[in-house]
Amino acid sequence: MHRRIYIRGLVQGVGFRPFVYRIAMEEGVRGAVGNYTGGVVIDAVFPSEGALDRFLRRVCDERPPVASIDGVEVGQGPQAAAYDTFVISRSKDWDGDVTQVAPDIAVCPECLNDRRTQARRMGYPFINCTHCGPRFSIVRDLPYDRGRTTMSVFGMCDGCREEYETVSDRRFHAQPVACNDCGPAYYALYRGVRISDYGELLGLAAGLLGQGEAIALKGVGGYHLLCDALDGKATAALREIKARDTKPFAVMFRDMETLRAWAAVSKAEEACLDSWRRPIVIVNQLRSLAPSVNPGMKTLGVMLPYMPVHYDLFPMLDTPALVVTSGNRGDMPVAVSEEEAASRIANVALVVHHNREIHNRVDDSVAQVCGTLPCLIRRARGYAPEPLTAGMDTDGALAFGAEEANTFAIGKGDTILQSQHIGDLKNWETFGFYTEAMERFAKLFRFTPRLLACDLHPDYLSSRHAADMSAATGLPLVRVQHHHAHAVACMTEYGLHRPVAAIVMDGSGLGDDGRVWGGEFMLCDRASYRRLSHLEYLPMPGGDRAALEPWRMAAACLYTWGLPFPAGFTARVGRERIERLCRMMERDVCTPLTSSAGRIFDAVASLLGLCDTSSRRAEAPVLLEQAAAGVERPYVLDTEAEAVSFRPVVEAILEDMECGMPVGYISARFHATMAHLIVDKAVSVMEREGVGEVVVSGGCFQNKYLTEMLQEMFASRSIPLYVPSRAPANDGGISVGQLSSAVSRTRTTRME
Ligand code: ZN
Ligand code: ZN
Ligand code: FE
Repeated sequence: MHRRIYIRGLVQGVGFRPFVYRIAMEEGVRGAVGNYTGGVVIDAVFPSEGALDRFLRRVCDERPPVASIDGVEVGQGPQAAAYDTFVISRSKDWDGDVTQVAPDIAVCPECLNDRRTQARRMGYPFINCTHCGPRFSIVRDLPYDRGRTTMSVFGMCDGCREEYETVSDRRFHAQPVACNDCGPAYYALYRGVRISDYGELLGLAAGLLGQGEAIALKGVGGYHLLCDALDGKATAALREIKARDTKPFAVMFRDMETLRAWAAVSKAEEACLDSWRRPIVIVNQLRSLAPSVNPGMKTLGVMLPYMPVHYDLFPMLDTPALVVTSGNRGDMPVAVSEEEAASRIANVALVVHHNREIHNRVDDSVAQVCGTLPCLIRRARGYAPEPLTAGMDTDGALAFGAEEANTFAIGKGDTILQSQHIGDLKNWETFGFYTEAMERFAKLFRFTPRLLACDLHPDYLSSRHAADMSAATGLPLVRVQHHHAHAVACMTEYGLHRPVAAIVMDGSGLGDDGRVWGGEFMLCDRASYRRLSHLEYLPMPGGDRAALEPWRMAAACLYTWGLPFPAGFTARVGRERIERLCRMMERDVCTPLTSSAGRIFDAVASLLGLCDTSSRRAEAPVLLEQAAAGVERPYVLDTEAEAVSFRPVVEAILEDMECGMPVGYISARFHATMAHLIVDKAVSVMEREGVGEVVVSGGCFQNKYLTEMLQEMFASRSIPLYVPSRAPANDGGISVGQLSSAVSRTRTTRME
């Protein structure tokens, strides 16, 4: 019997075709395997139904470590082809474009072993195979073939060529295959002398790190800055080099065992850390490193080695941990070339380059585990550009994303390809990265836009870029409300199509009424939404400045509700500044109204004396979360209201402060209040509107304490709760929601 089998998922560029070949040979199946747009297609003749079942079971169960299968579809073969044996056919033999690119993969255990045993690869730092190595970062064009990657400048030696052409070899069609004889190499200029001996470079780098110096090292998707994480002077100096005040540095530990001594890691966190994607994972710290690594924080972003050079450095060092942070200054994109390294990285003792060009800039990813769910905060290396299944035809849609933590997304077939994390577009260099990445995506994935989507906010640089493109091309532009996009991103990730109760707790986004939204209770599907209720509007004196200066929101709450200003607060902030702010609100000067939940977190953090002025984004809510101690009962508030007021909550907080209750207790009660409000609202939307599912999204759900409380509360009520995982809860997920919503809107009627 002749069957055609389509396998969807992450199956290209991960050694899947040779794997299918091996299973087919072992099972005596004749036919062919090749890549197609959605994955891998097998055309084969099976002796019996049982043989087909057995073959499919083995393909699914024994798949290569990095591969994942989203779906298998079995149909009749087109015609009775005469196959004598089983062959791997070239990509162009099948219909359609091949548009999948695997994310970059951490070096695999077999390769780490090969570099101790294979003569040509002794200690080779750029070893890779079909299961591991660079992918997205080196791809220029498709189909994924060595000639279309930045490896094209390296001619394969005879040894590598033979492996590349041998079906049974682990390096069969491993496009970046290389060895000491033929592949990329590290080099550096040190005190006017060029060093290209790897051993010598390692010794020099380790020596400098040991002396408390910072070095730069070119990685997979960009340069890193490294220093000893236990050396206070070195980490403080690195802050100068980075021009970064207090934002925590990520730390790479020698290995998992060492990491366990410094941080509390759950099974799920270990699995995430140890996965081939190797993200930075935010975990609870047990022992302190140098204080300037993560000043004032109880959590630490940790990761494990993922390039051979990382594995080589640690045994030469006394320290168990290195700060490993992006090679850039301030908010600039990570440097990828020698020129960018020269202009963006200064005052380091050594800059180690390599000559494998990075085509697609891709930073380290950041995740945190809520319950057992890995939730991405920054989606980049190891994740981009893996597609999300949209469950509808998205072809030709281009979504421009938000402004901060920007990503964009394109629709290809029935998938959504989200870009790697781009960053804050207000930074000029980052905006350049944005337009460059968009062009590269379009070229790589043979993408021609037919429908554009952006935020409702006309002044976001992404919205302006979209409007410019629409004006220049005449393509339709759909503007999607920010919080609707947050909700739809989560719906899309989980394949939800029917209306859901959506709770979006966020920093800020423009609403339909021209006000700043961010605490929204909605009934929505992908195309449209109804805003059922929201947090009470409060003045936000100074507009965007209020987000950086939480004391402004604290003062706005007290002023609006006529509550007394606590003596401690007035003493810290200064009577004059408070009075000036009150006059601003009185005269309604530069004081937009906001329903943002993030601003409530800000106000409470300031009242509690945790953070009056932020030195970085979301500092106040993070400090408020970290202060929460234990689980406490919520404060009382009217959760039925259409505009939910936190006045009784703030009043009760002032009372608790008056009584000398500890900050940790008050923070825990505040979080419990938010959680109960969310559950109450969700239940009432479900009952009144007859929906069965709850979606939460928005920047506030980066709050792990809150999210885990909700996961438990919803689980105990047996209500399905969807928490953003692969499309970030913060503005990094917005592009997915915009795309999905714009496509749905153009083909369905609006919800009334
Ligand atoms: Zn490998
Ligand atoms: Zn070679
Ligand atoms: Fe947002």
